[in-house]
Amino acid sequence: MRKPTINSVSATALNVKLDEPFEIASGKKHNIENVFVKVTLEDQTEGYGEASPLEPINGENQETVIATVRSLSSFLKGKSPDEFDEISDGMKSLFWAQTSARAAVEIALLDALLKTRNGSLWDYYGGAEQSICTDYTISIVTPDEAFRQAKQLAERGFEAIKTKVGTDGARDLERLKAVSEAAPDCSINIDANEGFTAREAIDFAHKLESEGVNIDLFEQPVKRYDLEGLKQVTEKINIPVAADESVFFPSDARRIADMKAADAINIKLMKSGLKEGEEIARISKEAGLDLMVGCMLESALGMTASVMFAAGLGGFRYVDLDPREEVYKAPFSGGAKLRGNCYHDLDGVRPGLGIRVTEQ
Ligand SMILES: [Mg+2]
Repeated sequence: MRKPTINSVSATALNVKLDEPFEIASGKKHNIENVFVKVTLEDQTEGYGEASPLEPINGENQETVIATVRSLSSFLKGKSPDEFDEISDGMKSLFWAQTSARAAVEIALLDALLKTRNGSLWDYYGGAEQSICTDYTISIVTPDEAFRQAKQLAERGFEAIKTKVGTDGARDLERLKAVSEAAPDCSINIDANEGFTAREAIDFAHKLESEGVNIDLFEQPVKRYDLEGLKQVTEKINIPVAADESVFFPSDARRIADMKAADAINIKLMKSGLKEGEEIARISKEAGLDLMVGCMLESALGMTASVMFAAGLGGFRYVDLDPREEVYKAPFSGGAKLRGNCYHDLDGVRPGLGIRVTEQ
């Protein structure tokens, strides 16, 4: 049977106002400005994808993503989503730097493909784990607010809390003390989003140790291109170190593995897409690096893709797929649902991503 080919591709703005602003070392967000991508096949099957760009992370924003997807339209038309790997490579050769735009198209292609097979993204990636449990991130807030949020998260059943650091060492320390006091049974991960120098990161880790604040993971302490600095931090501190912004492409993961510059790699679909995200997972596993999966500020659509990718492949030691509630809902229903701190029963979420569009 001839495989259905792509008839059209569209990209539209997906805007959601945040109840509370989200602040990390590289900037503050009041609104989510994502992009909804729709691929329609000639048999009218629709595949949905989402990009959640963030300028300081991947150099993209809503406008560049929409422009990229529209520019890809003539390349995509007439191709079959069955040729997923070839299409993915082709998109990279055209727009190598537009990672979240390419990821959104990849997600939409696989959603459409798996709908035609009545399969799901979870089983496409191997269906390794039925459920996957996540940490929850507290952004850069006052110690009192961090205490309140951490207490609430522990009560909701979260076992790991991630806290953003890297803007002000003294404030960071106060915030972390508050979190560890409010949620003594939770493990704590910290993420500097490139905010420290190697020296500052090492001093900060030692300070935490001397203050008795236990940390499970230290994410991206230094600038993304400072792999020597990353390696230094990894060698000098007792906390495992994860590379996030330093790894977009499989070649980045390979370099980090060769240099032994980090203990773990954080894979995000918005940085690497699905095809190369899977390659990074394989490289990391082979090199004995721990796997982490992370997200940007996706709705249920993009988040479900990450949940199914990670749970399908299995073996992710650190999971940071924490949805903002107001973003998660709009404007979709279905997909993976967070209950307590876990996404359960992933084999039942289908076809594709199991996402329905409630308004267009
Ligand atoms: Mg990170």
